[in-house]
Amino acid sequence: MPSPDSTSSQRAANRARVVRALRERGAQSRRELTEIGLSRSTVKSVVEELIDAGTVTEYADAKAARGTGRPPALVGLKGDLGVAVGVEIANGVVRAAVCDTAQQLLTHDSVPTDDHTPPQETLKTVGTLIDQMLDRLSLTRQEVIGVGIAVPGPIQRRTGLNGRATTLKPWVNVNAHVTAAEALRLPLLVDNDANFGALAELTWGAARGLRDVAYVYTASGIGVGFILNGSLYAGANGTAGELGHTTIDENGEVCECGGRGCLNTLANADSISQKLWRSHGDRLSIADVIKMAQLGDVGCRRVIADAGRHIGLAAANMYNLLDPELIILGGNLAPAGDILLGPLRESMARRAIHAGEVLPPFVVGELSEHVVVVLGAAAAVLRDADAFPLPGRPSLSGRTSTTVRARRP
Ligand SMILES: [Zn+2]
Repeated sequence: MPSPDSTSSQRAANRARVVRALRERGAQSRRELTEIGLSRSTVKSVVEELIDAGTVTEYADAKAARGTGRPPALVGLKGDLGVAVGVEIANGVVRAAVCDTAQQLLTHDSVPTDDHTPPQETLKTVGTLIDQMLDRLSLTRQEVIGVGIAVPGPIQRRTGLNGRATTLKPWVNVNAHVTAAEALRLPLLVDNDANFGALAELTWGAARGLRDVAYVYTASGIGVGFILNGSLYAGANGTAGELGHTTIDENGEVCECGGRGCLNTLANADSISQKLWRSHGDRLSIADVIKMAQLGDVGCRRVIADAGRHIGLAAANMYNLLDPELIILGGNLAPAGDILLGPLRESMARRAIHAGEVLPPFVVGELSEHVVVVLGAAAAVLRDADAFPLPGRPSLSGRTSTTVRARRP
């Protein structure tokens, strides 16, 4: 016979396991919850305890309700247990978002920045932005579970320093985690933008329910966030997914990483715009180029198609090595849609090994470039129960929240 103490500690451990699963995978059915290794009857009683304690609530499963009678209920964390903040420090802009524990986006905002600003100054801007958003939601810093911060480029796992390939030059060789922790005085984690983009599409978008996905994020450079076997894959040194620094032309231009003919020198936003200087002047942003291409400008369509072919070549090599079931395009080239994706898919199909299999779909992500990374940064905090415990019982009731509706039109 187990002692009453061991029984109650076992129940507490089971409650923690269920909460952890709900934080990692969002709302799910009781049957899905048995996949964490608990019996149906244990899941049922643990969920009842958590509902009584005000930690968990039932949500209707709209998808399962279609064509059936009564919708089976999903079980998920209540939204009032705390908030996670996501921040993206990018070239020219700082973005931020606040999500609650029910994975709802509460608010998001952005501030333009100068690429030459020292990290400490940029982080002051970030701190102000976070406080303004919390103010708008009538929340305090005590209710923040943690902050996820995205920086462009790889972060070396061993030293925590931003690598030299980081496109935001004042951040090269800076330990973003230490610097941000000192500036913000909030619990936080730091990762690169593409990894968070992948996590956002896994939580809310095109990668939901999938296990092997490559998320190609196009910003100042081109990076990939890999979900492999259901988890983010960063590599031994944290530099996995630097697709923008794979060689496309051995005799090409020298890249900021020191390499020659990297994908970034041929297909990132700056290199696309620069190809139009002679014909269109030097004031075109990548958004302008895409807009003009959609209106039929031949030169703009040509440079986007060329970029698509180069990305397709790099993507074929990536596919041959990792065999993802889906490849998602996000970031500032995503609005180009089929003008980019048509030549991209063709170029990829010419080079990818088929092995009798159909190539994985290469699709535009479901989350817009303005929120995908900050949502992923918040999701990283919500999912990490070890590093970011829920902050007790804050008084967050009475707020209104919106579902994540960041989808493209
Ligand atoms: Zn490079």
